[in-house]
Amino acid sequence: MRTLLLAAATVAMIAAPAAAELPDDYWSVDQTQPILDAMLKVTLDPDLNHLSDAESQALGQLLAAGGIMHALYEQQLHPQSASAKNSLDALHAASGQSADTQNLLDLYYVSKGPIVTTLENDRLAMLPVTAETPGKNVYPADLERAEIDAFLAENPADAKSILGLRSIVRRATTENVAADLDQLGQFPEIDALHPGLRQRLESTANNFDAFYAVPYALAYAPQLREVRRHLNAAAQLLADETPDFAAYLRNRGRDLLTGDYESGDASWVSGKFAGLNIQIGSYETYNDNLLGVKAFYSASILARDEEKSRALQETIAALQSIENSLPYEHHKTLNARIPVGVYNVIADFGQARGANTATILPNDADFARKYGRTILIRNNILNNAEIFNNRKKRFDAVISARDRDDLTSNGGFDRTLWHEIGHYLGVSKTADGRDLGSALADRADLFEELKSDLVSLFAAPALASSGYHDEMTLRAHYADGIRRTLQVVKPRAEQPYQTMQLMQFNFYMEFGLLEPDAESGLLTINYNRYHEVIGQMLQQVLQVQYSGDYELANAFAERWNYWDENLHGGLAERLRNSGSYRRTMVRYGALAVN
Ligand SMILES: [Zn+2]
Repeated sequence: MRTLLLAAATVAMIAAPAAAELPDDYWSVDQTQPILDAMLKVTLDPDLNHLSDAESQALGQLLAAGGIMHALYEQQLHPQSASAKNSLDALHAASGQSADTQNLLDLYYVSKGPIVTTLENDRLAMLPVTAETPGKNVYPADLERAEIDAFLAENPADAKSILGLRSIVRRATTENVAADLDQLGQFPEIDALHPGLRQRLESTANNFDAFYAVPYALAYAPQLREVRRHLNAAAQLLADETPDFAAYLRNRGRDLLTGDYESGDASWVSGKFAGLNIQIGSYETYNDNLLGVKAFYSASILARDEEKSRALQETIAALQSIENSLPYEHHKTLNARIPVGVYNVIADFGQARGANTATILPNDADFARKYGRTILIRNNILNNAEIFNNRKKRFDAVISARDRDDLTSNGGFDRTLWHEIGHYLGVSKTADGRDLGSALADRADLFEELKSDLVSLFAAPALASSGYHDEMTLRAHYADGIRRTLQVVKPRAEQPYQTMQLMQFNFYMEFGLLEPDAESGLLTINYNRYHEVIGQMLQQVLQVQYSGDYELANAFAERWNYWDENLHGGLAERLRNSGSYRRTMVRYGALAVN
């Protein structure tokens, strides 16, 4: 790898226009082209005329902060992401911008690093870098779950730092500790904001088989200091016009250095903003496939659609009655004010980049209890005609002709909106008061997403009774619930979304909500069974969450997560042959260089 990088850099300096042969172990155009051909390319470029002058200027600062977050995310995903990108850039320049190297750069862009998901759903390196590890680059590369479990069993006092949401786990070697202490010396603000950290590092004894954790705030101090500078600059521009937004940006800038997001989350959720919003920080743990506890960085810069937001706020007034109708006993009292906004995505960074349809944050149960959670609905993705047409093609390939026209892009909007609201409802702590994340560990995300999917569908009839839905929009909401469960390829174990979608599909098949036509093999939706079947599955999911019983969670997941080549494989093949795109590559008009 080292020689190869050097060679590429040398070539770049000469800037030879002649096409360069790709070095060994770089994917050829034969390997890259089919993956790219299977990708729907979408550019998001919303109208920003409604932004004030100050907002337009602040946007530049926010985009710069997002760019840093994106690079941090790539670094969290793979230790060689930056060097891989440099070598691709150098090769691309040296080859006179050949199609081969452009393909590699496009794949790097959409993969956010050198590890690519193939059409067979494998995760492989497209150039010579180390293979992906379950813990990505926030744990030692060679660490296996059994080793860290054994260490924590022996050293329970270290669990809090090792399992922290925003910390990197390292082997306790002299070199590692010395590098961290050196970094701490260069960032006095981090030293001041983390009392006890210096002493903890200084007292860490050299032991390859032992582990210690350092806060992201220290590990990524140079980048986070820059992000904070941009957030503060944006805050200064907006201080007079939108003081709440400016306060949030300042708080969040400081949060990044403390690793404690409470101040930023509180001012984010309850502040009154105008045309702009930004989600920035590390929240979601989907990328940690080792322990499922580490949050990865993201940023989303959003332009508010005031008219759509106001209309939406009015429709969700009757939430408490939906909470009270859920099939479990320990109903909670909801915060009357739930900040839902409809936004157009200006640019997404890091973990958030892609065709995400909505966000609800923060996840922290105590913050949610104290301040509520903000829901950000992404209008220019949910109502993107190309994305919808692609979904419709797949739906049509496996659903009976009778039910096909039930699918609409509004149905997708409603299902997604109520999925996000679903995160607000139901169980948020176990019977004995634990967080669901720590109780259900690597199963927690799966159950939380499953619950929200089911709550969205469970609420649909109540929404019809309250006048939100008419018969057609209710059908559309329901039809999108089925669309969501269709799998183009067998999910990997560490894909919580796809796995829980497959579990729903299997439950719906066994309970007769979905019924295959013996002759055509196409699926019919038994709408008259819909509410009952959803209620049954939701009841069991809420029971698992309330019990906080990891074994029960595993048993339930194993009961419903199965793949039969005949049934699922056959449907997946139809979906793949439907002429639809497999994935979506999203670019942004606001970003000159992608
Ligand atoms: Zn969700």
